[in-house]
Amino acid sequence: MVRESAGFAAGYPVLIVEDNPSVCRMLQETLGEAGHASVCVGSGLDALDRLEQGYFPIVITDLLLPGTDGLDLCRTIRARFQSHYIYIIVLTSRSTQEDLIEGLEAGADEYLIKPVGDAELRARLKIARRILELEHSLKKSLEEFKSLSVKDGLTGFFNRRYLVEHLPQEIKRAVRYRRPLSILLFDFDHFKAVNDQFGHQGGDEVLRQSAACVRETLRQDLDWTVRYGGEEFLVVLPETALDGALIVAERLRQCLAARDITTAKGTLRVTASIGIASLPEMAPRQRLPMETLIECADRCLYEAKSEGRNRIKGRQL
Ligand code: GH3
Ligand code: MG
Ligand code: MG
Ligand code: MG
Repeated sequence: MVRESAGFAAGYPVLIVEDNPSVCRMLQETLGEAGHASVCVGSGLDALDRLEQGYFPIVITDLLLPGTDGLDLCRTIRARFQSHYIYIIVLTSRSTQEDLIEGLEAGADEYLIKPVGDAELRARLKIARRILELEHSLKKSLEEFKSLSVKDGLTGFFNRRYLVEHLPQEIKRAVRYRRPLSILLFDFDHFKAVNDQFGHQGGDEVLRQSAACVRETLRQDLDWTVRYGGEEFLVVLPETALDGALIVAERLRQCLAARDITTAKGTLRVTASIGIASLPEMAPRQRLPMETLIECADRCLYEAKSEGRNRIKGRQL
C-alpha cells in the first residue's frame, strides 16, 4: 500500500496512546499547531484497534498504560503492521538508561522523557516525517520498477513474463466459471520488406505507432496485450467468445491497414494477419494449458498468412 505523501503534506495522522486526558489534550494541541491531525486513545488494545481501522503512520505512546503496556504495544506494532512503516515515539516519565534501552529494543524510534517541550516535539515529528517520506519514495520507485519489469519499452505493452504469470489465471477463471475467453495473435505482413525499405528504425516506428490501434480497439479495463515476439502481438480478451473476438479482430485489422505511419524515410501503411483461439462459454470443466490456446491461435495465424495475409482466421477449442 503506497500512500502519496502529498496527501499528507501538512502532516501525517498521529495516534496518541495516553491514559491521562490532560496530557492528551496538550499533545493534541501541539500536534494541531504542527499540522498533524490526531486521535487519542487510553489503552494499548484501543490503539491496536485504531491501527487496524485507520492510517496512523505515527504513534506517540506512553509506557504506563492500563492492560497492554507501551512496550507490548511497540512489540505488537512491529510484529503485526508491516505493509507500511509506523514511526513510534515513546513519551514517558520512566527516565533511567535501562528504561530507554528497553523502549528502543521494543521497537520505538524515539524515546522522550516527560515533560517534553513543544519545540522539541515538533522537531522530533520532523524526523518522523523525513523517515515516512523516504519510505514513500522507496515504495513508489519499487512500484515503478515492478511495472517496468513486465512492460515492453517500445510499445508499452506487457512482456512475456507477464503473459506467463497472467494468462494461466485468465484461463483457469474462464474454465471454472464457464466464461468465454479469446486470444488474438497478430503478426505484421511482410515486415522484412518494411525493414528493408524503411530501415530497422522505420520498422520500430511502425510497431510504436500501430500500438495506438490496439489501444483504440480494445476495452481498456479488461483486455490486455503482450508483445509476444519481435513484430508479433498477443491480445487477451476475457469474457469474449469467437463471434465477439472476430468483430474486435476485424476492427483491429482495419485500423492497422488504414493508419499512415510516418518514418524518417517516408510514410507507409502496413497490414497484419490475425489468428484467433476461443474458449466457448460453458466449456467442459477441464484443465487447459496456455500453450494449447496459443498453438491454436498460431495455426490460425499461419492459415491467414498462407491464404493471402491481411485477414483473420479463428477457431473454437
Ligand atoms: P510475414 O508476412 O510472413 O509475417 O512476413 P514477415 O516478413 O513479416 O516475416 P516474419 O514475421 O517471419 O519476420 C518478421 C521480421 O520482422 C523479422 C525481423 O527482421 C523483423 N523484426 C522482428 N522484430 C522487430 C523489431 O522489433 N523491429 C524491427 N524493426 N523489425 C523487427
Ligand atoms: Mg500513563
Ligand atoms: Mg510478419
Ligand atoms: Mg513474425
